[in-house]
Amino acid sequence: MHNAATVDQCLRHAQSLGLARVDAQMLLLHSLQRPLHERAWLLAHDSDTLTAAQSTAWQDALQRRLSGEPVAYITGRKDFFGLSLAVDARVLDPRPDTETLVEWALDCLPETGTPRILDLGTGSGAVALALQHKRPNATVWAVDASEDALAVARANATRLHLGVQFIASNWLKAVDVQGTGRFELIVSNPPYVAEGDPHLAALRHEPLQALTSGSDGLDDIRQIIAQAPAFLAPGGWLLLEHGWDQAAAVQALLGEAGFVQVQSRRDLGGMARCTGAAWPV
Ligand code: GLN
Repeated sequence: MHNAATVDQCLRHAQSLGLARVDAQMLLLHSLQRPLHERAWLLAHDSDTLTAAQSTAWQDALQRRLSGEPVAYITGRKDFFGLSLAVDARVLDPRPDTETLVEWALDCLPETGTPRILDLGTGSGAVALALQHKRPNATVWAVDASEDALAVARANATRLHLGVQFIASNWLKAVDVQGTGRFELIVSNPPYVAEGDPHLAALRHEPLQALTSGSDGLDDIRQIIAQAPAFLAPGGWLLLEHGWDQAAAVQALLGEAGFVQVQSRRDLGGMARCTGAAWPV
């Protein structure tokens, strides 16, 4: 026998344990095997009673969330820039803040034409797939050093019918610029958290290699900035996501490398979250 809880009781219980209301709603919809966008359904069914199987699924989801696992890993889905991505612990959970990077990238690309775009450290494929979706005429390549991540990204591309091309590479090392041609745009949300940052404890379910980058968090960004000029078309842009306190450092690195029009953009929370620049014509 199980204690037959109602939809409303489940949501109240989860919130009393500290879950955000939207997280509780998503996890309950997942446990009820309802589409995750049907939050209104929960309101209309607040006195429905869970079956024993639904109740077991809900308890499991609740425990996983309480242990700090991202909601997206539990539901297996994350909405990003209007796309529903499949995600799991092989890839970073795509953040809404990264939509700032996509918006900026779209601003750099003309509405018409056939630009070449490269996404470095694609993870789930979020940035590359969003750009290909918004710019069907663009040719988009996406790189990751992790075969696990590439498997997730490829599956997303196939399911969403988006023709992104994938390359296994440690940043630009294995990218063959003779074959691809130089890029009008290179974007990246690389690892940028400093090793030993106390903030990492809260991210322990996500792949560490997607998060940390040396003692100041800038090792990978330094590599990307050093490698990118040989791959950028004249006037092409390099746009990087980084930590809330790294904009000045990334601006300095871009300037020292010879980039022009160095500038930063703020995320939804008002932090300077992305920095980019153009390679001179
Ligand atoms: N934005 C993530 C965080 O600090 C880190 C992502 C990354 O390193 N690219 O929560």
